[in-house]
Amino acid sequence: MHEMSLMSEIIKIVSEDAKVNGIRKVSKIHVIVGDLSNVLPDALELAFFHFQKQGLGIIDETTELEMMREVAKARCQTCLLEFTPDYRVALCQKCGLPDCLLVSGETFRVESYEGSDEW
Ligand SMILES: [Zn+2]
Repeated sequence: MHEMSLMSEIIKIVSEDAKVNGIRKVSKIHVIVGDLSNVLPDALELAFFHFQKQGLGIIDETTELEMMREVAKARCQTCLLEFTPDYRVALCQKCGLPDCLLVSGETFRVESYEGSDEW
């Protein structure tokens, strides 16, 4: 389950940034998960619960994880049709050509987080 290491990475990024900004407690972490990012939201949440229980200081059981889904979108380079692809490599649904660019859906990143400098 690679969501475990992804979550660990997210917590590291947020913790380091929080430290720089004098934030002692993180109340919410917003992440963007693209439909084609190979990240399973359920598994990511499980990983988050795991780290919550570990009590890593900045994150505890009151911290929330908010996942925002990014819908997959591709654009055909030939007819400019925009559609929702099932895979990273997509055939245009109109002209059937494989000449499509992925516009969105591969994103996986921390969008923002909320916290306070109080204990
Ligand atoms: Zn097309």
